[in-house]
Amino acid sequence: MSWRVGDGNHIRIWEDAWIPAGVTRRPRTPRGNIVISKVSELIDPIRGTWDSELINDLFWEEDVSNILSIPVHMDREDSVAWHFNKKGVFSVKSAYHVLEDEAETKLVRQKGETSRHSLNSGQKMWNKLWGVPVPPKIKQCVWRVAHNSLAHKMNIKSKKISLDTRCPVCFRYDEDGAHCFFKCKEVRKVWRELGLENIRLKLANLLSAMEVVAEILRQREDMCIVVFVLIWKWWSVRNKVNVGELMPSAQTTVSAIRDMVQDILKEGSRINHHQSLEVQQGWLPPAEGILKINIDGSFMPGTSKGAWGFVIRSHDGAIVIAGAGSLGPVHDALMAEMMACKFAVEAAIQLGIAHGVIETDSSQLREGLTSSEFDLSVAGGLFQDIRASLHEDFLSLNVTKIHRSCNSLAHELAAMGQSWDPGQYHHWIDPLPDFVIRLNTHDLAEYELINIKF
Ligand SMILES: [Zn+2]
Repeated sequence: MSWRVGDGNHIRIWEDAWIPAGVTRRPRTPRGNIVISKVSELIDPIRGTWDSELINDLFWEEDVSNILSIPVHMDREDSVAWHFNKKGVFSVKSAYHVLEDEAETKLVRQKGETSRHSLNSGQKMWNKLWGVPVPPKIKQCVWRVAHNSLAHKMNIKSKKISLDTRCPVCFRYDEDGAHCFFKCKEVRKVWRELGLENIRLKLANLLSAMEVVAEILRQREDMCIVVFVLIWKWWSVRNKVNVGELMPSAQTTVSAIRDMVQDILKEGSRINHHQSLEVQQGWLPPAEGILKINIDGSFMPGTSKGAWGFVIRSHDGAIVIAGAGSLGPVHDALMAEMMACKFAVEAAIQLGIAHGVIETDSSQLREGLTSSEFDLSVAGGLFQDIRASLHEDFLSLNVTKIHRSCNSLAHELAAMGQSWDPGQYHHWIDPLPDFVIRLNTHDLAEYELINIKF
């Protein structure tokens, strides 16, 4: 069992499981001579937020960002929750997985590395791989990486076909799997740009493709998704270059990876089945007298960096206010969505908006705003607060889940926030900057286009 932080009075820093990361959920930092023992002592009682200076002094860097990503609720008692599934609710299945992981870890500690390769560990690994919530084409690609069965130049050569075995991307070294995905100078730019240099180094040093994929599967699920998408995307880039197409810039590849990861984190594996059926439309204006609030959060596993964007528009498509910002470390994609919602709602309240519609492309956020479904998750307290505010501060407010193609302005604003320093944000009312006007015109043009079609 692990803890949800409220006022921090009941949680012992060094003994209790309260940090949403790692196997033990306890600080990695050794206690040493530190006298501070309760989580409440890490909270600034006046501001009701983490005392980040103190935390930076006491803990190792990896603990610091994990701790700062936990929301504090001074008005609430600490509560016990089950950590390992997303909703924070105990399930037999998640218990089984945790027990299995702990048992494995113990075994490894007792017997050394070799016990990891127990008889059925192979089967477990494949089950895990096929269970990662990404489209099947991506899993198939990673499966082939694990079996080293992609058509790398060195693999073709080993079948005794004579050819130039140099990497088609850099032309400097022979192309094998490790070079293609981890060592080539071009792919290294992509890993670096995504903030994944640490894991790249770790993977690059493993001795077999099988170990590489096993190591990826040992990561947190969202990290696993990014690495899977990176591998799949890079293989398609490499194939295009191999047949003579121009090499896209690292930035282009990275933003394609980011967009795909965002979609997957929001939709999970549902993306496979419904995307093709869903009608792609642009933004649709609300009825007169109602303002439409489009929000979007952005989250990059690896750096854990979150960002947000929102735009509030009237029935004629005019922008009332738009905003974007960068968050410090956040726990997951849902938390970033949640923060986007919080900032948008605060802006709407300040403007005295009485009737509104919130549009989000995250089905989890919609669930969290309209039910108690996610109340025990890491962002649970925030959900409770924001639902209370929606009831109290608006005469009417609906929450609608829309397709990402209807949310492009908020999406662009959140993407922009990703490149800013943590905590930096902007609100735009009048005059609106050119790029906001341009993006809005684009949104509205798509709306008119759809009207003409009908
Ligand atoms: Zn290369």
